[in-house]
Parts: sequence; C-alpha cells; structure tokens
Amino acid sequence: MKRKLISRFILLFVTVAIFFIIFQTYNLRNIAINSATNEAIRISQLVKDGLTSHMINGTMDKRDGFINAVTSMKEIESLWIIRGEKVTQEYGEGRESELPRDEMDKEVLKTGITQSKMNEDIFLSKASVRITIPYIATSNTQINCLQCHSVKVKDVLGAVSIELDMSYMQQMGKESLYMVSIVTILLIFLIIIITNAILKPYIETFERIGFSVKESTNGRFNNIMKPLGLTKGKEADILVDNYNYFVNELQIAFDGIDNKLKNFTGQSATCGSNSFLNTHTIINNLSDIYNFKKQIEIDTTVDEIYSRMSQILKNKFNIHNFNFTMYDDINKISTKVWTQGEEIQECNKSNDFNLCRAYKISQDVYTINDHKACACFESEDKFLHYCIPIKLMDNVTLVIRLLVNTQDEFDILKNNHITFIKKYIEEAIPAIKVKSIMTELNESVYRDSLTGLYNRKFFDEESKMLVPLAIREGFNIAVLMLDMDHFKAVNDEHGHDVGDQVLRMLGKVIKSSIRESDIAIRMGGEEFLVLLVNIDENHVLDVANKIRENVAKTPIKLANGDNFYKTISTGVSLFPTDSDNLQEVVINSDIALYEAKDSGRNKVVKFKEDMRSTIDIF
Ligand code: GH3
Ligand code: MG
Ligand code: MG
Repeated sequence: MKRKLISRFILLFVTVAIFFIIFQTYNLRNIAINSATNEAIRISQLVKDGLTSHMINGTMDKRDGFINAVTSMKEIESLWIIRGEKVTQEYGEGRESELPRDEMDKEVLKTGITQSKMNEDIFLSKASVRITIPYIATSNTQINCLQCHSVKVKDVLGAVSIELDMSYMQQMGKESLYMVSIVTILLIFLIIIITNAILKPYIETFERIGFSVKESTNGRFNNIMKPLGLTKGKEADILVDNYNYFVNELQIAFDGIDNKLKNFTGQSATCGSNSFLNTHTIINNLSDIYNFKKQIEIDTTVDEIYSRMSQILKNKFNIHNFNFTMYDDINKISTKVWTQGEEIQECNKSNDFNLCRAYKISQDVYTINDHKACACFESEDKFLHYCIPIKLMDNVTLVIRLLVNTQDEFDILKNNHITFIKKYIEEAIPAIKVKSIMTELNESVYRDSLTGLYNRKFFDEESKMLVPLAIREGFNIAVLMLDMDHFKAVNDEHGHDVGDQVLRMLGKVIKSSIRESDIAIRMGGEEFLVLLVNIDENHVLDVANKIRENVAKTPIKLANGDNFYKTISTGVSLFPTDSDNLQEVVINSDIALYEAKDSGRNKVVKFKEDMRSTIDIF
C-alpha cells in the first residue's frame, strides 16, 4: 500500500519533471534563435551602413575588404551581399559573388521580407542560423537612398545573407538543460522524502484500520496501535483514538448480546468462525422459536403440536426420519405417538419396555462412532441416532428419536442443531402437558373407569359419525350384545369386589379377542356392546363365539386361591343387513340376547325377524 502510493507519487513527479524539461528546452531554443536573429539583423545593418559609406565615399570597389573584415567576426560563418534587380539595372551586374545563391535569397529580393531558417544537427552538436535581410529604399532617414539610386521608396535594392554559428548557444542550452534536469531530479527526491515522512503515519493508520475492520467483520474487535511519528492532536492521532473507542463500544455491546444468547441458548455466538454470522443465525432461530411457541399455544390437540414439531424437524433441520414415543411408567406401556420416515424395529419391541436407554437413564443417548450406546443401536441399522428423553410428568416420559444417514449430518445435528431442537422441545413441553391432560379429561368422559372400555356416551357420539361413514364407504357393522350369565350370583356369593374383578376380566377378554379397529363398549352393569367394523358376515358368529369361549375358559381367581369360571350370552344383529338404523340393530341384538338367555345361556344367537314377535309377547 505504502510502496504503491510512493511509486504513484514518483510517477507523477517524473511526468511533471519531463514536461518541465521539454518546456525549458523549447524556451531555450527560442531564446537562442531570437538572439541569433537579432545579432544577424544588427550585423546586416552594420554591413548596410558600411556599404552606404563606401558608396558615398566612392570607394565601392574597395567593399570586399570591408565585407571580409565583417565576415571574419566571431560566429559569422559566411556573409554575402546580393545586388537587387533595380541596382543591377542602374549600375550593371555586380560581382559573381553578389548573385542570389539560393531560393531564400531570391524570395527576399522579390518580397522584401526577411527570411530565416535554422540548421541543426543534434548529433554533431552543430547549429547555425541563416538569415537574409533585404535593403529597402528609404528617403526619410539620414541616408536618402533616392539621392544615389533612381528607385522608388520601398523598392528592394539588395539583400545581405548571413550564416551565424550557434553552436556555442546550443552548448549553453545543453548545459542549462543538464542543470535543470539535475535540480529537478534532486527536487523529486526531496519531495518524496518529505512526502513519505508526512504521509507515513497516515498510511500506517489507514492500513491498521483496514486490518482491524477486516477482523471486526469476523467478530474480533481489536484496538489499533498508534503508528510512530504521530504527534498528539494530529488528525491521524484523533482518528486512532476515535476508532479504538468505537471498537471498544462495539465489543461491549457484542459481549452483552453474546452473554444473553448464551444464557438463553447455552451456545456462544463467538464459538464459530464468524460470530456476526453466528449471532445472526442464533437470533433468527430464537425468532423462529418464539413464533413456534405462539403457534402451539393456539393448537388444540397434542397431535397438532407433534405435527408442528415434525414440520420444524423436516423443514428447518432437514431431518426426515424420527419418531416420538411416550413411556408410561405406571401401566408399563410405550406408545409411538408420532412417526416420520422409516421405522426402527428395535425401538418398537413392545415386550421390552426398558429397551430404550434414553428413557431409562433420562439423558441424551446418541451414536458414538462404533460404540453402541443403546441396545436399539446394536442391530445393523443404517441410521445414526440421537435420542432425547423429556420428562412430561412424574410417570410419563416422551423420547424423541432423531435418525440421520451420514456422519456429516450427525455432526451438524449434534454440534449445531441439537441446542435449538431442544429449545423448540422445551417450548413445546408445557403445551404438550396441558393438551395431554385435556385429551385425557376428554377421553375419561368417554371411558368406563372400571374396564377402560368405551362407555355408552361414546357409543352415542361415535354412532353419529360411524353410520354416515359406513354408508359412504360401503362397509358393514356387526353389533354384538353381550351379557354375563347369572352375574347377580357372583355379587351375592363373593361380594361386589369380585363382581368388579369379573367385569374387568370380561373387558380384557373382549378387547383381546377383537381387532384394533373394532369397538368395545360397556353399556352398563354387566352388559357389553361390541361393534365389529367392516367384517365378512360369515365370520361374525365365529368372532362372537371366540369371545364366548375365551370368557368361558378364563378363570377368576379368588383370594382363597380358588378359581371359578363364568359364561356369557350374546345376541348378534347386522348393519345394514337387518336394518339401516344402527339403534334398531342394537335393539335387534338385545332381542337376540334375550333369545340366547331364554334358550339356555352361554350361547350366541343371531337376530331373526320372528324373534321380535316373541319379545313383544313379553
Ligand atoms: P342373567 O343371566 O339373566 O343375565 O342374570 P344376571 O344375574 O346376570 O342378571 P341381572 O340383571 O339380574 O343382574 C345384574 C346384576 O349386575 C345386578 C347388579 O347388582 C349387578 N351389577 C351391575 N353393575 C355392576 C357393577 O358395576 N359391579 C358389580 N359388582 N355388579 C354390578
Ligand atoms: Mg346377566
Ligand atoms: Mg344383565
């Protein structure tokens, strides 16, 4: 930078100096020519006066001596006079030497105008000026030409041609030129030295500020040193002070922001390569988290929150395989509440509730090279895992499993994204808790607390949606009405608690005997309704009998160690085969149930139209 500036200065000065020298050379040459011309004019005047005297004195024939004497003067290389036409006409031809010698002589005789030209030979250091001056006839001076010549005023009487040696002048010019050049070069050096001394501290300051600004763009705010040669109060000195003050203030402000971010995110903006960029990213993320929080507050269900978290993981963090699993300590149940992308079979082993290490140790668990941190990772699965356990309630833990394909993706996840993902989770936890409790409350309205099956209220609500859906989609529903045989006797013999135990057993047997998509409802007392949704009509009685048989072979254990067995009777009716009104189908199944009871119990009876009349008799 400094060298560049100085070389520019040198170039500028040298250019100016060259122009100056050329200008000086031109001037010197002009001065030399002018003084030579003046000299020639003076000599020609002298010759003219001399010739006039010769003429007046009648010694014109002796003029050669005079001419030779003048010619021998220093600097005169040659001199000749030329007789004009008028004088030739008057006095006859002059000497041969007095004839015009070249075009210049002829031109001057013709026009009466002085002519001159330079003859220069730079290499031979020779220079001369040739000048031809006319003698014009005058009558108004002391010498009246018209007295001796019968010519008119302004007629050209003749001319004198002189060739003057100018070599000495050229020599002088050259010497002056050398002097000027030497002085100019010395001056340039002097100016450069002075300029350098004056500019040096400013250039250094400029360079230091430049470097510091470059560092600052990466979040490194450095004070700059004052360059040597600065005297207090000088502009550069003030500039350095102001710059350092500015940089310090920036550092304080930036540290403040960084501390706040660290408190909030646990991540420092200064840990990356460019803290400005990092801060920008962190603040953007925080702003997104804030928006996320506002959104989930107005979400109505837990599923909506999971769906939103899923969107964030996919779109913001580019993670496409993950699942959320809920671990219920009390019931020892793990439920997959959200799955995105591919499943990991090992984590699904429902029979091994304690398989998930993140759940067990309540700490993040992730793949570390080949070290298997969790039993789930032991298979040859292609993913790298990062599992985060979140304690939702005392007995409920949500484990978020993030799966990525490559080590690079995993490093980005672990080093950059996980802090923010956790921040999102942290914001989502209160909403998940509230929404879960709300869902549970809503659920309890539709659940029977003794058996955990749905209740009659649920049936009333569900049938409103199920019937139109069945009609639209064209599937059927088999309605099974179940009633325990001689249940009153259980209560009477063993007490209500055992009665309740029998009802719980019945609930469990029903649930385990039907498909996930079928619906089991406790309608009240020891009466249960089962809706077999979308079932082949030929299989309905098989399912009903399977339930009946399963109940019959399930022992009820008494406190004294004794077992006893109970049976059920079942009435069956089909929607829409028996009626396209579900309520009516339920009544039909009840009628069939009566038929089963009436005909001996522990059996399944399918509704027939003629049963209606039998019931009516009652
Ligand atoms: P049937 O074979 O004709 O069905 O005879 P049953 O004794 O089962 O029929 P009944 O309707 O006469 O008796 C039902 C009994 O179930 C009456 C009631 O005390 C009892 N019960 C109803 N709800 C509950 C309950 O929640 N717990 C217990 N322990 N008993 C219940
Ligand atoms: Mg009964
Ligand atoms: Mg009953």
